[in-house]
Amino acid sequence: MNTKPHPSIAYALWLLFLLALHSNSFGQHTQKVIFDEHRNKSARPYTITTHYPTTGIAVAIAPNDSFTGSWIAADNDTLWLKADPHSDESSNLQYSNLLTIHHAVDEFTFYPGSIQGDITFTYIDARLPENAMPLRSAKKKSAGCSEPEIISQTEWRTGLPDPEYERVPNPVYNLIIHHSAGSNTDTNYVQVVRNIYLYHTEVRGWSDIGYNYLIAQNGLIFAGRDPDTLQQDSVMGAHFCASNSGTLGTCILGDYTNRIPTDTTLSSLVHLLNWQAGKQGLDPLAQHAHPLNAALPVIAGHRDGCATECPGNKLYELLENLRQASNQAFANCLFEVNPLEPTPTIQDHPLITVQYGKIHISNPTPTEARFFTLMGTPLEAKKTISSETESVYQLSIRTWGLIGVYLHHAGGGSVARLIYLPQEFVSE
Ligand SMILES: [Zn+2]
Repeated sequence: MNTKPHPSIAYALWLLFLLALHSNSFGQHTQKVIFDEHRNKSARPYTITTHYPTTGIAVAIAPNDSFTGSWIAADNDTLWLKADPHSDESSNLQYSNLLTIHHAVDEFTFYPGSIQGDITFTYIDARLPENAMPLRSAKKKSAGCSEPEIISQTEWRTGLPDPEYERVPNPVYNLIIHHSAGSNTDTNYVQVVRNIYLYHTEVRGWSDIGYNYLIAQNGLIFAGRDPDTLQQDSVMGAHFCASNSGTLGTCILGDYTNRIPTDTTLSSLVHLLNWQAGKQGLDPLAQHAHPLNAALPVIAGHRDGCATECPGNKLYELLENLRQASNQAFANCLFEVNPLEPTPTIQDHPLITVQYGKIHISNPTPTEARFFTLMGTPLEAKKTISSETESVYQLSIRTWGLIGVYLHHAGGGSVARLIYLPQEFVSE
């Protein structure tokens, strides 16, 4: 009896085998190993071979263990370990900050410092596929009130698995600033973002990268989580102390505990904040209550929500400057498109709300309000109510999107603002 399978069956089995190989490698961009050689020995360096092209290393230890004094040398870089400021308490492991490596390595030197127990290393391969189209590296001038140039997730994620989950739409009231607590020297920014994506999805098991936006040290702005059918700024993230409702998360790549971000980074950040504040109709100098903080500033740091070192002392200290800069940028960009108006003298920050097709302005009530398109064309409006506490205006034409307003006060002083009229505004 002939035991050889029929040639067509053998071919089908071979195809199945190839398919199995393919599906096994697809989506597998991380590899986990447990390291325990250092146990009961004095802290000395270890050379570790990864047998894997490694561009990122996630390190996890027991919750009662400590990263103090531990570091890794790889690709001529020194990577200090510290507790991840974005750890979630539900985990039974304590993660370090994500370590990223510019050129993939398959070997590194590990200095355990004070770590006593077992160490879980997860090696991440975030390299761009060799045949990937080059990503944009140039960026437009970072200024104005329009949307800045942003590299979409589908662009930087090329070759990595898609996130698949139910997106939650989320209105935005607070713009939360983070730092990655990662490398200040790794300039392979696209790969750094890809490392964070794999760390969040494959190591931490989250649905997608946690942030809505990320900003690199060269000022490039990356879109964070994949919005699917929502907008980039209206998909709920996972970044703010497990209470993300009403927040938008922006992560500045690097560690800002002891240094301030580059001017290029800060200018992109102000542009993003200014655009978002305008689009969401938020006052950059105001506060908006959140379940974790009744006086949460509109522009806030991660640590304003819960106990974390994020966004680093130096960046946190800059937040007030960023609020002022975003506020100033409101006025400047409106003035740029309509230079005939007097330069606004910012002396107050009025409360502007939009409801039922009308624009309410208070705190203080202006004596005069003039409305403009962003191209500087005046929009006719009539004042429907005026009291000591507020003025209410109705535009003569039905429009939506960003418009500008100049407010003048009898007591002197004027202020320019952007208002976002939601699409529902026209149908109300
Ligand atoms: Zn943070």
